[in-house]
Amino acid sequence: MKLGFVGLGIMGSAMAANLVKAGFEVTVWNRTPGKCAPLAAQGAKIAATPREVAEAADIVIAMMATPQAVEAARDGADGILAGLRPGKGYVDMSTIDVETSLESARLAREKGAMFLEGPVAGSRKPAEDGLLTIMAAGDRMLYDQALPALEKMGKKLLFLGEVGNGARMKLANNLVMGGMMAAFSEGMALAARSGLDLAQLLEVLDAGAMTNPMFRLKGEAVAANGHFPAAFPLKHMQKDLRLAIALAEQVGQPLFATASVNELFKEAVASGLGDSDFAAVSRVVRK
Ligand code: NAP
Repeated sequence: MKLGFVGLGIMGSAMAANLVKAGFEVTVWNRTPGKCAPLAAQGAKIAATPREVAEAADIVIAMMATPQAVEAARDGADGILAGLRPGKGYVDMSTIDVETSLESARLAREKGAMFLEGPVAGSRKPAEDGLLTIMAAGDRMLYDQALPALEKMGKKLLFLGEVGNGARMKLANNLVMGGMMAAFSEGMALAARSGLDLAQLLEVLDAGAMTNPMFRLKGEAVAANGHFPAAFPLKHMQKDLRLAIALAEQVGQPLFATASVNELFKEAVASGLGDSDFAAVSRVVRK
């Protein structure tokens, strides 16, 4: 099976590398061409456009930043769709809204191709280790065909049915993550301002029902209140909160806490922290 990979950011570069390592023939493209070089050194072929990737591959996988980035790589004379043919597959693993995903499915199927969405949970390290959670939905036949590749990127794979359910599930997941990080930041800030030892608060949290890998992973950096190199860029967390709120509007679900959490992340983006890790939101709280 020949694979294509479009979008070699933090996640895409690690996911594509696992496919190359597993022995798949992989053709890659990225808007900033320099990011293709490490993949090429491992054995991937570089294409000049997303269209060329889709032409070279049986299944083309995309991992883009935003709905706009998905459209930029998908549409136009050089886009993925232009290279799709009947029988090929298009798997979009970006975290985006339901509407963009449905449109990708419609356009791919118009070409006789199959479509699958597969947003992921897990950050830089799980992506490198092939330990992501993949929330797939769409054409079941493509899911089955893509399984050997998906299994090289993820440890937990779910098939959620119709296109849109992957996006919905991913947004519900990230809403929880954003809220947890906001509450964690406020607890740490309150402890710091009250003169407590933050290492001891981390110990208390870790010993109780709130223990979780995220607090353990980010705790030291939040306590130090220094720099936050991006594993999950803060601007993407804010995008996910915005998309979750838009989904909630559509289905009539109030999100009292998430609305506030979104304002906090918006403030962090406005403070220039968009390219830092999402844990840098704690800096806004600690100010
Ligand atoms: P990233 O490092 O910012 O990479 C984003 C990718 O999108 C890059 O390849 C970038 O190209 C491309 N891109 C952005 N705008 C574009 C445009 N207008 N036209 C063409 N390409 C464009 O992001 P990431 O962390 O890998 O995340 C990718 C997706 O996965 C996002 O939807 C994110 O929410 C989701 N996600 C991320 C994590 C995480 O922990 N990082 C975890 C789960 C899910 P350039 O290289 O040229 O900028």
